[in-house]
Amino acid sequence: MDKIGWANGILIETGKSRLLFDPTPGRRLNPEWNVFITHAHSDHTYGFRTPAKKYSTYETLHIHQALRNCEIKRTQTLRLEESVKIGDAEVTLLNAGHMLGSCQFEIKTPKFTAIYTGDINCVDTLTTKAAEQRSCDYLIVEGTYGHPSYSFPRRNTMYADIIRWTMMEMKSGRVPTFQVYSAGKPQEVVRLFNMYTKIPVVCNPTISHANSVYVENDVNLEFLDSSTPDGKKALRRGGCVYVTSGRSDHLPHNASKAVATGWALQAFRSCTAFPLSSHADFDQLIRFVSHANPRRVYVFTGYTDLLAKQIESRLGIEASPLPAITQTKLLDFN
Ligand SMILES: [Zn+2]
Repeated sequence: MDKIGWANGILIETGKSRLLFDPTPGRRLNPEWNVFITHAHSDHTYGFRTPAKKYSTYETLHIHQALRNCEIKRTQTLRLEESVKIGDAEVTLLNAGHMLGSCQFEIKTPKFTAIYTGDINCVDTLTTKAAEQRSCDYLIVEGTYGHPSYSFPRRNTMYADIIRWTMMEMKSGRVPTFQVYSAGKPQEVVRLFNMYTKIPVVCNPTISHANSVYVENDVNLEFLDSSTPDGKKALRRGGCVYVTSGRSDHLPHNASKAVATGWALQAFRSCTAFPLSSHADFDQLIRFVSHANPRRVYVFTGYTDLLAKQIESRLGIEASPLPAITQTKLLDFN
C-alpha cells in the first residue's frame, strides 16, 4: 500500500521504500532511513543531525556546514535535475527558487508521480531562478503565504524602495541595518547593493560564512565581515550598509533598522519593513498548482486549510491539508 502523509516530516511509502523529506525533531531515524533535505534553512535541516542516509544538493550541505561550523557524514549530494533510485522510486531534484541550492523533490514510482516542493519561490531574484514547474499526480505544496491578502509587489519595485530608503538614512548620518536570516535573503540584499550602488556592505560573521558558499558557487558577492578590522572600521565610520542575522548582535549606535520579509505586508511597527520574500505569494502558488495539474494537492505549513479550499474552488482540483500518515484511508492509492 502506498502512502503520502505527515510523520515528523513528509513521508512517502511506496513498495518497500520509505522516503522522508525534511524531517523534524521527534522521530527516531536509524541508518536504514532515506532522508531528503530541500534547503539549508534551520527548520528544514534536522535530518542532517540524524544517522539516516541523507540526500541534498551540494550547496545546501555546504551552507548548513558553514552556518553550524560542523561536518555532516552520510550525505550524498546531487545536482539539480539529477536523480537517485531508491527501491521502486526514482527521486529527482528540481530547482525551488527559494535560496541557493534549494530544491523540490519529484518522486516517480510505477504507480504515480509526486512532487514535494519544500519552500518555493516562482520569480527570478538576484541570486536564484524561479522554481521549475512540472506536472504530477500528487503535489505536496507549501502554504506559507497561501492567503489572498499576500500579493507581493514586483521585485524591481521593492529593490528600488530599499535603495531609496537606504540613501535617505545614510544622508541623515545613520547606518541602514537589515536584520534578516543567515542565508538566502541576506545574500540577495548584498547582491542588490553590489549591483546597483557602490555602498560598502558589512555582514556579521554568520552571514559572511554563508556568503562564502555563495561565492564558491559563482554568486558574486562583495562584502566586509564585521569581525575584521576593515569591517569594524566601516561600521564605525558609517557610509555603509550593515546586514545581520542576530537579533542580539551589537548594532552600530546610529543603526536604522529594517527587515525584509513577506510578513511586512502585515502591520510592522517596530522598524521599517520591506515585503521582499523568498516564498511564493498567493497568486504564484495558485499558478504553480494550476501548471502542475495534479489529481490531488496536499498543503503543508501556513494557510493549509484556506489554500486547500481556494485550490478546490478556483481550480477544481481536490486539495486538503497534508494528513497524518496514520489516516491511511485518505492516502491509499490502491
Ligand atoms: Zn526556507
